[in-house]
Amino acid sequence: MCSVGSGAGVRRSGICALLLLFLFPALSTAGVSKIKDVRIADRGDSTRIVFDLTSPAKHKVFVLSNPHRVVLDIDRCSANGKLSSIKAKSTLLKSLRYAQKSPQQLRVVLDLHAAVAPKSWLLAPANGKGHRLVLDLSSKVKQPSAKPVLAMPATSRGKRDAIIAIDAGHGGKDPGAVGRRGTHEKAIVLSIAKRLKKLIDKERGMRAVMIRNRDTYVPLRTRISKASRLNADLFISIHADASVNRSAKGSSVYVLSQRGATSEAARILAQRENAVDKIGGVSLDDKDKVLKSVLVDLSQTATIDASIDLAEDILYELGAIGNLLHKRVEQAGFAVLKSPDIPSVLVETAFISNPQEEQRLRTHAHQQKLAVAILKGIRRYLKDHAQSDMLLASSGSAGRHVIRRGETLSAIANYYQVGVGELRRANALKSDKIRVGQVLKIPASTGT
Ligand SMILES: [Zn+2]
Repeated sequence: MCSVGSGAGVRRSGICALLLLFLFPALSTAGVSKIKDVRIADRGDSTRIVFDLTSPAKHKVFVLSNPHRVVLDIDRCSANGKLSSIKAKSTLLKSLRYAQKSPQQLRVVLDLHAAVAPKSWLLAPANGKGHRLVLDLSSKVKQPSAKPVLAMPATSRGKRDAIIAIDAGHGGKDPGAVGRRGTHEKAIVLSIAKRLKKLIDKERGMRAVMIRNRDTYVPLRTRISKASRLNADLFISIHADASVNRSAKGSSVYVLSQRGATSEAARILAQRENAVDKIGGVSLDDKDKVLKSVLVDLSQTATIDASIDLAEDILYELGAIGNLLHKRVEQAGFAVLKSPDIPSVLVETAFISNPQEEQRLRTHAHQQKLAVAILKGIRRYLKDHAQSDMLLASSGSAGRHVIRRGETLSAIANYYQVGVGELRRANALKSDKIRVGQVLKIPASTGT
């Protein structure tokens, strides 16, 4: 990673502190905003939620999966009792919960039937309406005109490549760790990254995108936003380790620690747009159903779980070609791993501070070996984790779905783009009644 500090543990926390410094901007001194009303408009494959506010408020939006949720954190905002009376349901939206995290922050959690892409922005007073925060949720599943999502027959039409973002650490004015022979981490990792890209691009169903292609400095936050912009499914940051202990050696793989997994994540998905507030939804001001509010346990995010799976697969392959520093995946607060919805890992390929490993890292043969090991790890991961719209998922003819709370048969049928009748027949169901934990066979779609 870098070459400061002393002793493995101390060194790492020092680095993390540096990386995390920029994540906590000072609180604004503006007054507390209140939610006056909430309006929800259901458009089938999209849902618009408008929060009427007494004053503009900073906010962050991020996505969690398993089960699918969107979390909206609004700074210096109070629910003012309005949220508890909302009947928040739409084709996509299952329920809405909220909690006052602190006087400074209101957290709203939207439970969803399926994965969505959220967009949010603030609107200034206009046309008789006051300050508004607009949250658009659009289904990630294409509606009827699109190809079936899961269980495509023999052909792979409509399927996509898994996109892997390769992040060569450091660059430009930041050399990273420097070996005794003057080897710069930034140069070694770029070379490994380029090799990995070549390997990935040769694979069926995979495509690599580079966060940096040249010896340039890319800020950490930019690295994440670039991966997000390039629609990356996985993010792999490549580094070479260093320690004052010259005998320290071996590879290691990191994922984000659960602590601090939220703040940076939000920045990326929070997007502002100038758009006309065209909501046609009914006012929910007068609905009186009280919904229980619960804070999301963010330490259980599926993204971190998926990251750990990916890290384990890569660690396994690295272990097959050389020493491991840690036999298991480590977790730390690396800023570069803070993507909210992209499984992200940081690979420390070897110790550039160890003379033998520095020597090896300089050779093309070893760089290639490392790239191949990382590729094999990605392959292992995607074998089990490819999303249903990926080319790599098409080999299985049909899928399985475990029923989660609040799901309906029709929502599941819609998600997988199969008919409700088909779904019922495939599972010998006499009615649309399903229970939590029940496993449904998802039939191969006829693709009509
Ligand atoms: Zn590094």
